Formats: sequence, structure tokens, C-alpha cells
Amino acid sequence: MSGIERVCISVNSVCNLKCTYCYFFLKPDHLPGLNALTAEEIGVILRQCQAYSVRPEVDKRIKVNFVGSGEPLISWAAIRTAITRLHEDIPDHRLRFYTVTNGLLLKPAVVAEMKALKLSPSVSLDGPAWLHDRTRLRHNGRGSHADVMRGIGYLREGGIPVAINTTLNREVVGNLDAYFDFIEEQGFDKVIFDRLVDVPSEHAVSGAEFYAALRRIAELKEERGLAHLEIGNLEAYKRALAGAPDRVCTMFGSTCGSGFHNIIYMQRDVYPCGRMFGQKRWVLGRYDEPLEVFPQRMAELVGDRGCGTARSTDTEGPAGPDCLIERETPGYDRGPRDQFVQWYGLRSTASGLASRAR
Ligand code: SF4
Ligand code: SF4
Repeated sequence: MSGIERVCISVNSVCNLKCTYCYFFLKPDHLPGLNALTAEEIGVILRQCQAYSVRPEVDKRIKVNFVGSGEPLISWAAIRTAITRLHEDIPDHRLRFYTVTNGLLLKPAVVAEMKALKLSPSVSLDGPAWLHDRTRLRHNGRGSHADVMRGIGYLREGGIPVAINTTLNREVVGNLDAYFDFIEEQGFDKVIFDRLVDVPSEHAVSGAEFYAALRRIAELKEERGLAHLEIGNLEAYKRALAGAPDRVCTMFGSTCGSGFHNIIYMQRDVYPCGRMFGQKRWVLGRYDEPLEVFPQRMAELVGDRGCGTARSTDTEGPAGPDCLIERETPGYDRGPRDQFVQWYGLRSTASGLASRAR
């Protein structure tokens, strides 16, 4: 069994966009100031990840994803320096690098550096301009779509495959056909949907809305014959149903293993998941500690209630347990997810997809 597989590093808490649904601006006191990690601090984390990656329980290269509680590329110089030093000092390291960016700071030089550092970016984009620009605004109130598409153009020119991260907000949920028109027209072949959560209820997408949308997304993909289009959420469910779950966020489809297989560094503290930021009871430790202590502390916190411990598919369903946070939320209803899993499981079995995902 593998240990920690994914490490997110939130490198700063500042953003060059002002999306209408962002918790940043909905709750301005949620994150204090810039407080960015330095290249040296990022380097300490990378070295701890590398030291952990050679432990016997780790059977895969560790995925390190630079995120922000804001925009990570604002800290590009620090990220670049830390990765460069690691490549120089430990050329055969066992880390793989990713970032999720809003795309505004992608320039030809940055793209070339990403390529040289073997860092794979994904770009946040909520569909065509009229849809994206309803919510993803610049600080001057203008839409950001043209700037994001320019950045995507630079990635394509640089020969870097473009993965799209779409926030599944109410606007996108209500316009899925138009969204797919755009994805097809642009020739994107990899998309991941992030359910909008932890924002006031007028913005948030409920579990029922999310799983209804995910079902429609699966149908649209099939109706349109988009076999080449990889939808991360569906792929993850496919793998979970096939008994080989990818340790990604359950909202993407699988048993996340937060704290056991996934951790996130936020403002020098380590949490099982970014949604737990600021809640002292979930702090697993500090950024300069060895990684092996975090799963041990998670086990002390949750026992067998976590997403990473072996659980019965009889009680949790064939795709494994739902999100730990959702399960702890008063009024939690597992019905919408169970129904989706059942529907998608039957569909996958019928088409032989589950077995092929192994
Ligand atoms: S890009 Fe992300 S962090 Fe920045 S305002 Fe938009 S949602 Fe918030
Ligand atoms: S705890 Fe929930 S939100 Fe966090 S990674 Fe796991 S499934 Fe996703």
C-alpha cells in the first residue's frame, strides 16, 4: 500500500483576479495578507517530500502541486528557484510537479521555464467568454477570458498540453451544452470540474446539484462522441469503481485519503485538505517536519472515519467513502452521490469501462 501520493503547496494568499464566487472576497478575513512562502521554505518542503519518497511504503513518484489560496504564479520566481535547486542537487528525485493557475501570468518565458522544469500546468477556465466573464473578473471589474485564452495560447505554442480546471458554479451548471460547445470548438482534451463549496448558499453548489450535473456531463460526453475528452471526475469514479481508486478529492470521484495519501501545506501549516484551513483541530504539523508524521497524526485524529482507511464497500458503496467534511456536516445526505455512483457504475459496467480502467 502506498503512503502519501499527493502534496499540494499553497504558496501565497494573494490573487490578481477577483472572481465573484471566491471565498477570498466573499470572506475577506479568511486569509490574512500575502504571507508567501520563500524559495527556501518551498525548498525545505520539496526536500522533505523527496526524503519521504524513498521510504518503503511509497511505491509511486509523489505528485507535488503548486496551488495558491490565490494565484501561485505570483510566486513563480520562488517556485522556479526551489525546483531548479532540487533538480540540480538531486537529479534523480522522485517528485513530479504540477500547478493550477488562473492563466493571467503565463508568458512565453514562463512557459519555457515550466517545460524545462517538467512542471505540468492546468488552467482555470469556466467556458466561453460570455459564461466565464460573468464570474471570473479582474480587479477592475472586467472579464478575464481574453487574458486566460492568451495564456493558453502560449502554452500551446510552447508544446505544453493544456488541462482545464472549471469551477462548477451555478452559471456553468445551467449552461453545460454551451460549455461543451466551447470545449469542442477549442479542442481541449482534459477537463476537471471543481464543485463550488464553502461559500454562502446563494453561490454554493449542493451535492444534489453537483451529482446531477456530473451525470449530465457524462451524458453529454457520450452523446457528442467525445471519447478523446478526459473528464477527470469521471475517470476518477471509473477507477474507484474498478477497485483501484486514485487518491483524488472525492468530489472528483474517489476516496481522497486526505491526511493519509493527500496533504496540503497552507501558510506553513500542514492540513489533510484545503477545506480545513484555519481549523486548529485539523493542523497535522508544520512545513519543516518529515512527512511520515502526518498520516500518523491523521490516524490519531480520525481513527477509521477517514477516507484513507480500509472500509467496507457494503456500507460505503462501490466507490468508497464520501468526503470526510461532507460526512461531518449536519444534515449530510449521501443519497445524491450514491445514486450517481449506482448509475455510473451500471453504465461503466455495460460499456466495459470499469475493467479497462484497472
Ligand atoms: S483565481 Fe481563484 S483565488 Fe483568484 S479570485 Fe479567482 S477563485 Fe479566487
Ligand atoms: S476531505 Fe473532502 S474536500 Fe477534502 S480532499 Fe477529501 S474529499 Fe476532497
